[in-house]
Amino acid sequence: VSEKQTLGFQAEVKQLLQLMIHSLYSNKEIFLRELVSNASDAADKLRFEAINNDALFENDPELKIKVTFDKAARTITISDNGIGMSRDEAISHLGTIAKSGTKEFFSKLSGDQQKDAALIGQFGVGFYSAFIIADKITVDTRRAGASAAEGVRWESTGAGDFSVEAINKASRGTDITLHLREGEDEYLSAWKLKSIIRKYSDHISLPIVMQKEEWDEEKKETVVKDEFETVNQASALWARSKSDITEEQYVEFYKHVSHDFEAPLTYTHNRVEGRSEYTQLLYVPSRAPFDLWDRNKRGGIKLYIKRVFIMDDAEQLMPIYLRFVKGVIDSSDLPLNVSREILQESRDVRVIREGSTKRVLSLLEELANSDDQAQKDKYATFWKEFGQVLKEGIGEDATNKERIAKLLRFASTANDSDAQTVSFADYIGRMKEGQSKIYYATGETYAAAKNSPHLEIFRKKGVEVLLLTDRVDEWMLSFLQDFEGKELASVAKGGLDLGTLEDEAEKKQHEETETQFKDLVEKMKTALADKAKDVRVTFRLTDSPACLVADENELSGNLLRMLKAAGQ
Ligand code: ADP
Ligand code: MG
Repeated sequence: VSEKQTLGFQAEVKQLLQLMIHSLYSNKEIFLRELVSNASDAADKLRFEAINNDALFENDPELKIKVTFDKAARTITISDNGIGMSRDEAISHLGTIAKSGTKEFFSKLSGDQQKDAALIGQFGVGFYSAFIIADKITVDTRRAGASAAEGVRWESTGAGDFSVEAINKASRGTDITLHLREGEDEYLSAWKLKSIIRKYSDHISLPIVMQKEEWDEEKKETVVKDEFETVNQASALWARSKSDITEEQYVEFYKHVSHDFEAPLTYTHNRVEGRSEYTQLLYVPSRAPFDLWDRNKRGGIKLYIKRVFIMDDAEQLMPIYLRFVKGVIDSSDLPLNVSREILQESRDVRVIREGSTKRVLSLLEELANSDDQAQKDKYATFWKEFGQVLKEGIGEDATNKERIAKLLRFASTANDSDAQTVSFADYIGRMKEGQSKIYYATGETYAAAKNSPHLEIFRKKGVEVLLLTDRVDEWMLSFLQDFEGKELASVAKGGLDLGTLEDEAEKKQHEETETQFKDLVEKMKTALADKAKDVRVTFRLTDSPACLVADENELSGNLLRMLKAAGQ
């Protein structure tokens, strides 16, 4: 097919474009960051494919990004000599949204411009953000390895459709030309473009070049030279030394690797030497992504080997329960031709994963144990966004179980809030004299757990009970029998032994009551023979007449309900 073809955008793209243009207008300069970020990704992809096929470099091995503008034509062009796109790729990559979480994103839009702007940012603005300042975009592209005749021109005004046609393109890669909207001429300035690049894209490891400008004494004006100069630092940020990197650069780099719009909550940057040599730059986002619960989703770690990009979402480098961590790991030991399958088996990878896991846990501990209120608040934010995922670690990571247990936070009868703020250490610090166990109640909701009749006796005795109501809790508890030698005990299970919390007089009274009701209990046992395993006189209730309890070794009522709901 060589003639021009017009195709409609996917409905979601149309919606996204509309929203973006209206709600991100005050942030419009980010278009350049997004296009530069894509150009950099395209170079990474080329380097990676070229590991096994050197010919893809086509005598043009110096990868770079070129930014030019034309005052008369009122255009800005961002060019790269990266991987490029075939016709099919241009149609699908620039005409549809293939991101996970797309459905959730659209369902969350409220129509409130400010809220939606934040959501769009979180979803990732990408290529389409260029339509904020351009009323027409022309993309000329040719995939590495394809012939010059296989070039493609993609063009759109960002309304409902786009066109694609075949063109001749001698150079590999992509030129994106923005035809500026009326009133956006401020971007037709080398100074303006350079300052945006330095602000948002300084960390890009490829050179971003622009034409030199010089003052001409005779003409009394600045003239644009044919010579190009590099505008950014052009070295991999994670390979620079910490002291040379500013906070802003760390934040911008995060936005680049995570496609997030917001700053991260915290990060850690280390060069690890020893059994395995690697650099890690790992970030904890400040907000959970739309698809946090999709366990099939691969993690957020980009793997580089000696500065060469190898793959996105290298899930082997981080355990599943830390899948929210974003960043880069650059290994000095792995072979360049590594595949996902090899990664699975590799001893080096295991060492890296263990090391990175420990780094992330320390990072969280630093926040959780800090005396600084701002840091503590960050941990509270972390827990709200990612606590439920971290809980999976109790079952998944036996090695670090204790460390993870210390990071857990719960709602509790000690306060009147459903906020999960109480740690095991807090609980132990408030234990009653003679209390040996950590008591908890599970339930489907905070209200249900809090109003459980099982809590009556605890309330009466002033014993604190943790209230566990997240879906993962029952599963997690099956891996967590104790904390620092103190048994975790459900208030709803078995014969409740409040141990030395029961005094002698109470014990005697309980025995008398039991004798008094012996006959009644026997009658009830016979009557309920096929419905209840046992009938007992209970002292755990103070207001309710009766309650059901699970056997010591049985699944609790709540877990049974969950399993039934899941069709087990
Ligand atoms: P994202 O970068 O998050 O994937 P974008 O909207 O920024 O989303 O880009 C969409 C897709 O278009 C990219 O994933 C890539 O496949 C393709 N693309 C965009 N710009 C380029 C480019 N300069 N070279 C090659 N492919 C590109
Ligand atoms: Mg992008």
